[in-house]
Amino acid sequence: MAKIAVLGAGVAGLGVALAAGRAGHEVVLIERDDTPLAVSPAEAFDWDRQGAPQVRHSHAFLARLRNLLRDRYPDVLEALYTAGATPMDFISMLPEGMDRTPLPGDEDLVAIACRRTTFEWVLRKTILNEPSVKLVHGMGVTGLQTNQASDRTGVAQVTGLTLEDGTVVQADITVIAGGRRHDLPGLLSASGVAIRETIEDTGIVYFSRFFQLRKGAEFPAQTGPIGGDLGYLKFGVFPGDNRSFSITLAAGVTDRELRRQLTDPDQFITIAAQIPATAAHVEGDRSETITGVNIMAGLLNRRRGFLDESGEPLVLGLHAVGDAHTCTNPLYGRGCSLALVQAELFADSLKEHGLNHRDRSVAFEGATRDEITPWYRASVAQDRLNADSTTVQNGTADAATSTADAATSTSGAATSTADAATSTADAATSTSGAREFMRDGLLPAMRTDPVVVRAFLRMFNLLEAPNSLMTNSDVVARVLTVFNDRENRPAEVSMGPDRALLLEAIS
Ligand SMILES: Cc1cc2nc3c(=O)[nH]c(=O)nc-3n(C[C@H](O)[C@H](O)[C@H](O)COP(=O)(O)OP(=O)(O)OC[C@H]3O[C@@H](n4cnc5c(N)ncnc54)[C@H](O)[C@@H]3O)c2cc1C
Repeated sequence: MAKIAVLGAGVAGLGVALAAGRAGHEVVLIERDDTPLAVSPAEAFDWDRQGAPQVRHSHAFLARLRNLLRDRYPDVLEALYTAGATPMDFISMLPEGMDRTPLPGDEDLVAIACRRTTFEWVLRKTILNEPSVKLVHGMGVTGLQTNQASDRTGVAQVTGLTLEDGTVVQADITVIAGGRRHDLPGLLSASGVAIRETIEDTGIVYFSRFFQLRKGAEFPAQTGPIGGDLGYLKFGVFPGDNRSFSITLAAGVTDRELRRQLTDPDQFITIAAQIPATAAHVEGDRSETITGVNIMAGLLNRRRGFLDESGEPLVLGLHAVGDAHTCTNPLYGRGCSLALVQAELFADSLKEHGLNHRDRSVAFEGATRDEITPWYRASVAQDRLNADSTTVQNGTADAATSTADAATSTSGAATSTADAATSTADAATSTSGAREFMRDGLLPAMRTDPVVVRAFLRMFNLLEAPNSLMTNSDVVARVLTVFNDRENRPAEVSMGPDRALLLEAIS
């Protein structure tokens, strides 16, 4: 059995501890935030998580993640429900009028409604009960222990971590799970290791507030999608655990006026009240706010490479998991799912290759390339499309999914749609063609065609590859039929005011 040191006890670090700990390995997690275990989800919500500020923003936990827990860690899924999380069954939320009788495969289309702090709290409690896992919190990692490898490659081998109080934690394998803001290249360069990095800005800033339903109040009846994209503003409502929910509004980095307005807690509510999908949640006596406006900028897509051009490891004895390896635009709601999937990939490569550092690294990076990298590419492609579409008309994102994730789903849809469009329809040989194809083909088809909406939901929930809509000829044909009929139906209904109207309404 290996001794594994993990930097960071966010979702990825906890996932590694769970997978490797249950496989019998000795795991020590080092977390810089001083966060003793809270006694309840309510208390965990107040955790001081400066190292992972996104815990104060809306989180979707997609079906891929829920299915992973269902299949490999049913006790964790059960514990989440006991803590107040709820299943989100996408089939029960199919558009009005569509047959909701479950079909084979529909049992997989269930996500989890939960605050990020509650999710982390349950994972934390779980791993603290694992006999071979130890957590040190309130202690940062400041350096790596390295050796030159004993083989002739001369590649540095990491043998553990140095903590801020000077303590050295020796390990057979070191896992970096420090998240999107941790400087892994800096840590490695101090040991003479250079890794490869690709970065692309998402172009958006996140504004989120959390709410609690008042006593006796219920969530509003769903009459349409509860998220979408107005071109200049993305919006979404995310149900949480224990009758909480959050609203996220995301504006363009360069839209200083809208960003300024969104920072104001009162204006945030006023803006949410202008958008039909979010309005019902904030109007009247239904809910009360439980946070101010939380803001997060600097949101990057970033991918790191740990193999050289000939496919050999640049460093041995060290892996990066989660955002430390690959992070994507949070709008698509994939980060935690991918972090847990990648933690499993790490555990699988460890099971197969043990302490053969070279083979384990090659296997892990290969699996990451197959399972994680396509979602990075999809995120970048979608962001480029969005960056080109700031003048898109309102209502383009009238997705069929009446879910909290609809804001992300509508954007995510275009990744596949854009691909589909470029390869299938004349109309879609350009970015604007791809957008039209989404607006007048995919999105209306998702409202009426159960085959298309299921295919979309499977892709959106990471159960199929990002290009799966495009490679499914039946789905492409159905969407094309709807697209070709676009002149014969009324224009898509607006999902909210245009930017000028919105600013006028809040002035
Ligand atoms: C605004 C926003 C919204 C998001 N929404 C969603 C969503 O809807 N659904 C979804 O699935 N994902 C979402 N994500 C992505 C998701 O939060 C991340 O993908 C996920 O947290 C990755 O987990 P991680 O463990 O890699 O990193 P983190 O969760 O960030 O954890 C990193 C940990 O490392 C610790 N650390 C850092 N440096 C050190 C050090 N030197 N020593 C010790 N500890 C250290 C930090 O304190 C932190 O606890 C969102 C992200 C953002 C930014």
